[in-house]
Amino acid sequence: MPRLRDPVIVAAYLALYMTADMAAAAHLFADLLAHPWNAAPAISFAIAVRHGRKWLWFAFVAPLLAGLIDGGFLAAPLSAILRAAAETAGAALGVILLHPRNSALVCSLKRRRGVFRFLTAACAASALTSIILAIPPFLETNSIEPATLLFLFHLVAILSIAPLVLVYDKSWRHVRFQALLTGEIILQTGALALIAWEVFGRFVNEEIHFFYLLFLPFAWIATRHGQIGAALALGAIYVAPVLTDLLFGHNDTMIVEMQIRLGVLAVTSLLFGAMTAERRDAEMRMLERQTELAHFQRLNVGWEMASALAHELNQPLTAAMNLTQAALRLLKTPSPDIERAANVMSMSVDRVERVGQIIHGLRDFMRKGELTLAANAMSDMADDAIRLVSAEANAAGVAILSSGMSALPEVMADKTQIVQVLINLLRNAIQSLTLSKTPHPQITVAGRIDIDMIEISVADSGPGMPNEVMDHLFEPFVTTKVAGMGLGLSISKSILEAHEGRLWAENAPTGGAIFRFTLPLAKRDLENA
Ligand code: ADP
Repeated sequence: MPRLRDPVIVAAYLALYMTADMAAAAHLFADLLAHPWNAAPAISFAIAVRHGRKWLWFAFVAPLLAGLIDGGFLAAPLSAILRAAAETAGAALGVILLHPRNSALVCSLKRRRGVFRFLTAACAASALTSIILAIPPFLETNSIEPATLLFLFHLVAILSIAPLVLVYDKSWRHVRFQALLTGEIILQTGALALIAWEVFGRFVNEEIHFFYLLFLPFAWIATRHGQIGAALALGAIYVAPVLTDLLFGHNDTMIVEMQIRLGVLAVTSLLFGAMTAERRDAEMRMLERQTELAHFQRLNVGWEMASALAHELNQPLTAAMNLTQAALRLLKTPSPDIERAANVMSMSVDRVERVGQIIHGLRDFMRKGELTLAANAMSDMADDAIRLVSAEANAAGVAILSSGMSALPEVMADKTQIVQVLINLLRNAIQSLTLSKTPHPQITVAGRIDIDMIEISVADSGPGMPNEVMDHLFEPFVTTKVAGMGLGLSISKSILEAHEGRLWAENAPTGGAIFRFTLPLAKRDLENA
């Protein structure tokens, strides 16, 4: 917080105060003996609100100093002291309302709530200052009207000038002038100056024409530059009528009208600026969330991939181990059957090769969602899958029938992935049939053409899916098996969706589960169709 010792800041604030005080001389309300364009009290208010009660001395000393310089103090010392007291009281009320604990600056104009609090404090401070100032003999009248007018002058000055002091921060010192010379800022400044001239300069004391046009550049500036833009534009637009008053002299009625409109403009712009700042904050927060989410998703994909690999590799690795042990047993006999052992070993190699394919395929799919698409015969993929589960099916006594597959046209598919989907479906069916001890356990793999897709069904003669599982079947980690991971169906579904196909399930009316999926026909076949 800047202290008394900080002479540069004190000097800058005093210079600002004196300038405002001098500019106020542009106009004197004859029957009120008051200056309508006096922004000096607004500066004291803003300084106190910005830096806290320790700076209230400024609100008292500055007007006395100004009085000493312009000779007002010597001419009417009592009035000068009353003025200093009135300004200090207004600033103190601002501090109380916006600085409840006198610690950090509570009022933040970057929030709509902050703007409303600021408006309340500005109204209260202006009311207090103007009531004190309206005390006779200072104004030599005690009618309500002078207090109301003084209230208006103070309020409009606070609304127009104080935001600049409040939004200023040290980073402004490092803004290069060239950086401000963008086409948009030049256009905005030009539009503001032109309309200000139209409103305040051209029709000096006639009606205020085209004031409403000012709302356009203000809306533009506030929505583009937030509260800083709004504060700068408000400060500038307050100076405009002061200058034209100095140059041409406005009449009293005109000034009251101008000030009412300036007040409305200030409230609207501050709210606009706050809304823009809030929107930007929300966008920033959303961006942060998205980055966090992307990070978590990456972690999640890594974890899912690890789980998926564990799930998919379990079966071929167990099969390879069993086959290798079988081969070893064959070789360890007194008269080893080398040929059979070699056969069994080649089946084991087949499974291990499959492990490699699964790792590569899953890694690419999980990492980038990539598939190696090619025209593939559905019957080949079904045969591969059936072959790869045949040992498990034979052990469980399950018959796997395939019907109508060879008649199907080729599909666009990543062979390893679709074989994997079929293996998942077949193994689930085998496990269900085994667990339920269904007599004559049987699985039928069938296919048919459906416009530009083929539809494959894997139906078993088991008990089907329980209803509670049915609703969440394709969600990860849904399983009814003791050692199940509940990932097979969810991975299969993502694989098919990546192929622009679908996977769904139903329970057959005669009992048993039916899983169906679709795959798009290979382009070649589509063109021939
Ligand atoms: P997991 O096989 O590890 O349990 P899945 O995602 O492949 O994971 O299967 C999820 C659940 O769906 C299974 O635990 C089982 O309850 C049910 N399910 C899948 N296929 C069948 C089927 N053919 N018959 C009965 N239930 C099945």
